[in-house]
Amino acid sequence: MKYKEFEFISSSFKCDKNCPYCTAKITKWPIVDNKLNKLEEQLKYIKDKGITFKYFIFSGNGEPSLMSHDDFKAVIDATRNINLFDEKRIQSSGNIFYDDEELNYVKDDFIIEITRVAIDSKEDMKILGYKRDYIKTDNFKKCNIRLNYVLLKNRDLKKSLEEIKEYIDLYPNIKTVSLKTLNTNTFDGRIDNPYSKWIIDNALTKEDTKYIVDFMNNNKFLGDGIVEYDDRYEWKYKDVPITFYGKKGKYGKSNVVYYGGRLVDYSLNELNI
Ligand code: SF4
Repeated sequence: MKYKEFEFISSSFKCDKNCPYCTAKITKWPIVDNKLNKLEEQLKYIKDKGITFKYFIFSGNGEPSLMSHDDFKAVIDATRNINLFDEKRIQSSGNIFYDDEELNYVKDDFIIEITRVAIDSKEDMKILGYKRDYIKTDNFKKCNIRLNYVLLKNRDLKKSLEEIKEYIDLYPNIKTVSLKTLNTNTFDGRIDNPYSKWIIDNALTKEDTKYIVDFMNNNKFLGDGIVEYDDRYEWKYKDVPITFYGKKGKYGKSNVVYYGGRLVDYSLNELNI
């Protein structure tokens, strides 16, 4: 059986960025031992159940490339030893482009996923609180990139789409673009922290799904029309897919999270696989 995502989420909480919507801080997940020695065992368990996944995502409550090299390597090695995935991605703050050792270890079979709010690096750096313009590095150009583009409330959608075209024109190594809305609180939905408040004031959320999809469909300059299945919408510009997940499928059945050695859903409930 094919599931959608297997997401490895580290518990380092170390990051060189300071995103005002920080998904790591918003979840309020407990700090745990990553129990990396159990990852391969859990993948083997899943494999024995006859399950494979479309995507492996190396994610973090924190920046993955700031883990120790041994820990970083252990995650990558486990996915190579028990490879159940059509596509593998690693999410990065941008730090990985300054770390030759980590980058060279993954760049041939992983897509590097970056998240931005603006093509203008100065603006992006100001809003997301970081100091090095990683998109200008040679290492950036050497990798296959997925761009997560966060849709802001105070910016005309038309301008956002023009920016996306500009990214694709400028950086041919961008293989996919994902339009992102933000979740106010992924753990229990309460608005009880400054990150959720920032999201409400500044970002589009899942409530804006219809507006975004209608807008994309009405802007023919984005190309080939829409492919819609499950919760995933897709458009194209110069053959680069631009996707949008309107309503993230509930974690559980088709989405599995590995956290601290356990297989859980996004509310940290144990999964019965
Ligand atoms: S890159 Fe990720 S972990 Fe780092 S501050 Fe931004 S959202 Fe948080």
